[in-house]
Amino acid sequence: MDKNVKKTPFENYLEILSDSANILDLSENVLEKLKNAQNIHTAEISISGGKSFHAYRVQFNNARGPFKGGIRFHPEADIEEVKALAALMAIKCAVVNIPLGGGKGGVQCNPKELTEKELEEVARAWIRAMEPFIGPEKDIPAPDVYTNPQIMGYMMDEFEKIQGRSAPGVITGKPLALGGSAGRGSATAQGGVYVLLDYLKKIGKKPSELTVAVQGLGNAGFYAADILHKEGFKIIAVSDSKGGIYAKEGMNPENIAFGKKECGSISAALEAKNKGELCSEKTCCSPVAITNAQLLEIECDILVPAALDRVLTEENAKNVKASIILELANGPTTPEADAILEANNIVVIPDVLANAGGVTVSYFEWVQNIQNFYWEEADVQVKLKNIMLKASNDIFNFAEENKISLRKASFVLAVKRIVTAMKLRGRV
Ligand code: NAD
Repeated sequence: MDKNVKKTPFENYLEILSDSANILDLSENVLEKLKNAQNIHTAEISISGGKSFHAYRVQFNNARGPFKGGIRFHPEADIEEVKALAALMAIKCAVVNIPLGGGKGGVQCNPKELTEKELEEVARAWIRAMEPFIGPEKDIPAPDVYTNPQIMGYMMDEFEKIQGRSAPGVITGKPLALGGSAGRGSATAQGGVYVLLDYLKKIGKKPSELTVAVQGLGNAGFYAADILHKEGFKIIAVSDSKGGIYAKEGMNPENIAFGKKECGSISAALEAKNKGELCSEKTCCSPVAITNAQLLEIECDILVPAALDRVLTEENAKNVKASIILELANGPTTPEADAILEANNIVVIPDVLANAGGVTVSYFEWVQNIQNFYWEEADVQVKLKNIMLKASNDIFNFAEENKISLRKASFVLAVKRIVTAMKLRGRV
């Protein structure tokens, strides 16, 4: 393969699946089942004004429970990408051992070119196309890139209208007022922080000794930076799609988020601060501008990719100076980069563990919807911490016993759990 052509996310999944199959000595028949989605639903959906879009729902595996996974609205959301994300959801749910399978959906559209009303129409049209295949006992979608709680609200409403009944458990990530769960907003980051703190305890390191760089100050990245700052880590670099900033003395993420909100981006806020146009108390420190590429190679202890997939590659992995990578984004590291990081003794806490707090609290939302009884945020946190620590403990021990990376350990444990369920159902 041409070195410059990035492998697709699905090819990356197949590669690590095949490693796991070798370790577990899986038969060809079982492996074949894990390589293919159980169902792929596609539709052409239309909205007013004559616009139409490709829409998908990939139901990868439901041996352990109903399919579960988000819906992405993105110009590059094609079937290959959605298939990979659906497979990773099956793995992720098995890593944290929650009783759900894996699925993912998408609409190939550019949400930035659509009005609010058109986005609502796309959401409702997706549900009309996929309604026969989803439901609280079948397949439970959620938000993903460029979809949000409001879109989930429209989707739940459309599903309930078609079915003529209340069914909040059809979708998670809803606004609190429509049956969302307390704690969902920060869940992905919080789950990752629980795992990171557990790992640091094992190796005897304290937050106050450690510096952190976060790529992507969005939902996952902002909460991660904020929670880590409050835990005593020094946040020295953050970025968004327009670029980043670095401050050796550390920064308060709440102040950076304030600047970003006021000025539109982190870089614009830095420019405004330098011109004296942004209140200096709110912007702390004396940051300098850096690019996203520089952020990934910055001198720090912990690197948190929390934006895009495939940002750590064969080209830049050798320049990474962090000793720990906490993957909050899905698929930020290519298999080639993974091998380089492993050879350089850089510990990667993989996406399927690090960001599984999101789907774990989505699972809690579904449970609360089904029993129509809602928990306090403190209850959500206790339950999330228990699940994340159980998962990290299983994976850290398995990796140590078998002398394999945390990613391989996560995949092997997850595949084993999925295959056990498939065997008990007589599917293989
Ligand atoms: P988001 O849209 O809230 O934030 C994404 C951030 O990345 C934004 O700050 C954006 O400016 C930045 N960004 C976009 N392009 C960039 C680029 N080229 N370089 C650097 N930064 C860039 O999204 P999110 O929900 O925080 O998701 C981020 C990642 O985390 C995705 O990979 C997503 O799949 C993964 N994830 C999120 C959740 C969740 O609960 N939010 C759960 C699991 C996984």
